This record gives sequence, C-alpha cells and structure tokens, in this order.
Amino acid sequence: MIDKDVLDLMGCIRCKSKLIDKEKYLECSQCNIGYPIEEDIPRMLEERIFSLND
Ligand SMILES: [Zn+2]
Repeated sequence: MIDKDVLDLMGCIRCKSKLIDKEKYLECSQCNIGYPIEEDIPRMLEERIFSLND
C-alpha cells in the first residue's frame, strides 16, 4: 500500500496522470498500463511498465 500523499505526488511517466494503487501495482487508466510495486516501492521505469488487458 502506497501512502496517499506519496501517490498524489507521483504521476504516469507517459501521460502525467494520477495513478491508482492496486496493491501489487500502480495503474494508469489513461494509458491502460501498470507499474509494478516491489518491496513497497513503485518501479516507475519505462522498461518495467506492463500493459493491462481487461
Ligand atoms: Zn499514463
């Protein structure tokens, strides 16, 4: 779980939209992508982005 204040400061590196905490990853609903969270640290790197298909 990412602290909400921290989450508010972070944005999608592609579109700058706010991200949604999905526990295991952060979601950008604009880009339909996820950023993995490992050891409570979101991995905000282009090469770690995965696409969400649903
Ligand atoms: Zn985005």
